Amino acid sequence: MSGAKLLNDCFLHDSERLRHDDAVALITSRLACVTGVEAVPLLAATGRWLAAPIAAPRNVPLHRNAAVDGYAFAAPAPKAPLPVTARIAAGATAPDRLAPGTAARIFTGAPLPEGADSVAMQEDCVIGDGDVTLPQGLKPGANVRQAGEDVTEGAKVLSAGARLRPQDIAALASFGLGTVPVHAPLRVAILSNGDELRAPGATLAPGQVYDSNRAMLAALAATLPCAITDLGILPDDAPQIEAAIATAAQSHDLILTSGGVSRGEEDHIVAAIDRLGTRHLWQIAVKPGRPMSFGQIGDCVFLGLPGNPVAAFVCFLLYVRPAITALGGGPGAEPLRYRVPAGFSQTKKPGRREFWRGWLEDTPNGPVAMKFPRDGSGLISGLRQATGLIEVLEDETAVTMGTPVRFLPFDQFGIPG
Ligand code: AMP
Ligand code: MG
Repeated sequence: MSGAKLLNDCFLHDSERLRHDDAVALITSRLACVTGVEAVPLLAATGRWLAAPIAAPRNVPLHRNAAVDGYAFAAPAPKAPLPVTARIAAGATAPDRLAPGTAARIFTGAPLPEGADSVAMQEDCVIGDGDVTLPQGLKPGANVRQAGEDVTEGAKVLSAGARLRPQDIAALASFGLGTVPVHAPLRVAILSNGDELRAPGATLAPGQVYDSNRAMLAALAATLPCAITDLGILPDDAPQIEAAIATAAQSHDLILTSGGVSRGEEDHIVAAIDRLGTRHLWQIAVKPGRPMSFGQIGDCVFLGLPGNPVAAFVCFLLYVRPAITALGGGPGAEPLRYRVPAGFSQTKKPGRREFWRGWLEDTPNGPVAMKFPRDGSGLISGLRQATGLIEVLEDETAVTMGTPVRFLPFDQFGIPG
């Protein structure tokens, strides 16, 4: 699956205006995993995409063992005291077979001896001098962890492409695996272009703006397994831009830019891509967003986002994230949409899908979705107030108070709530 060649001109399509679903389907169907595979120590594997399916190489737990501190015995427990003939601590190997009519002192995690099938909790026992009186009524197998009760040897536990979570790392460690095969991070270069842009930290002259998109896009890319190169701000200078992009394309899987896409061939980045490879301007029927550039320079994918910060942010989540996932070896899963009653009313033009900045508020009747009241796609404050996106479909023309809306929480994109 990895190291696949991309289709030449993978973003070519024949529709004037793309619906959101079609744009996502084109991205996920045309892009293949291009990253290699590396064996990574478990402690460095969280968040990476698994490169091969994993089956349990052994039972977990490997041995039948005690779930509590107490006394091991063969059920049913007799009423009379049993002599305590052994002491089995955690880590003990191959304890002797328990003789009939005796009990063994045993500790949590210690292997159960042959001849025993149950453990009585020490708190429930009457401990004598060299003997123990067991509680009555314990079921056979009480307080015993059976071999393989967590995972059975051979069970398919993780699929290729799974994003490794802390609990998956725990499972891999419990199998005894020290390293795990994962996809190499996707090599992503990020740049901004425009003579008006200044890097944060520099002094701003009249007419200039700080470049906020580059840091934002790098932060968004960092929620995925990416190796990010910051190419900085490129001035509106065709030879410089072409040289920078040609060089970056040699050593990156993806070049991500923002701004300038709506001006088409007047834009230097767009003109540079056209000279170096192939490029398509997609008019996607969504708000915010719409014009995005999709291109290819050899095996390097080019994605040009709108310049407005809100549009760049939303388009990253909707289109760049699935593209990075497909190129990097992840699964092609759609984000979850939760149905939540609207806590507001709002009309909308038909024909395009809109993504509003929103959050959830608790009410006595349960949570409702709220919408950031202002629409401007330059308003970073709306993104900051939001904990998710409210999705309103193409044919919907209004959201009314109390009716369900689709809410896409940001935390599923790796953005803390
Ligand atoms: P454009 O898509 O180039 O027409 O840009 C649309 C708006 O986004 C303009 O107000 C630009 O100044 C702004 N913009 C473009 N690039 C950036 C950037 N890197 N950071 C912040 N704002 C930007
Ligand atoms: Mg510009």
